[in-house]
Amino acid sequence: MKALVAVKRVVDYNVKVRVKTDGSDVDIGNVKMSMNPFDEIAVEEAVRLKEAGKISEIVAVSLGEKKCEDTLRTALAMGADRAVHVETDAFLEPLTVAKLLKAVAEKEQPHLLLLGKQAIDDDANQTAQMLAALMNLPQATFASKVELDTQEVLVTREIDGGEETLALKLPAVISTDLRLNEPRFVKLPNLMQAKKKPLEKATPAELGVDTALRCEAVAYAEPKARQVGIKVANVAELVEKLKNQAKVI
Ligand code: AMP
Repeated sequence: MKALVAVKRVVDYNVKVRVKTDGSDVDIGNVKMSMNPFDEIAVEEAVRLKEAGKISEIVAVSLGEKKCEDTLRTALAMGADRAVHVETDAFLEPLTVAKLLKAVAEKEQPHLLLLGKQAIDDDANQTAQMLAALMNLPQATFASKVELDTQEVLVTREIDGGEETLALKLPAVISTDLRLNEPRFVKLPNLMQAKKKPLEKATPAELGVDTALRCEAVAYAEPKARQVGIKVANVAELVEKLKNQAKVI
């Protein structure tokens, strides 16, 4: 049984991203980049399934610029067996990502396709759903528990007001949520060993996918700065301020 795990290189979650002064884009020159946190959870889940003897091979795939190799090396250090890097400097929209992942999946024929529920840079939360639709595969998004069998996978997912458990026939697409697991810390020796693991290259053209943009970002703006809050002494003062100052009641 094989798992394909999609890992995106994104701005590290600790970085406060600023908008460029002309509002044309966000400024991410020289900021720390890391693996998308939900993708770390996806890799961790695949590694745990491998350790439990449920899957035999994990292929990590990343799409984007040359530096995505670092992200793939992290996935290999966590326990992935092989990596595929679809190298391009083009900006990739979720639909293009889904098409590229489909092309890789058709070659690799995985039983499980694991993605993050969203990339923390674009916050799109679209790729897993689009990939499942393009491949006509069952999907379970926002997974908080994954139980893999030989023919099907049980996925508990977080929904408004609780949880639901879906039984999906394999192959299937799963997107990971925060509570699925806690990713392991990557140790230096593992990173060194990861350098010896295979990393295959491809391009969108070789995979027959056009990367032309279908959406245009017109402008970027920082959210309005919030006013500093005040402390009130008691409920009466709170009500008075809500009524006469904020005028919301
Ligand atoms: P999004 O739909 O953009 O929020 O991304 C959802 C998930 O799709 C991410 O958590 C990744 O697993 C996958 N993904 C998106 N973009 C890429 C990329 N450039 N390379 C690899 N995986 C990606």
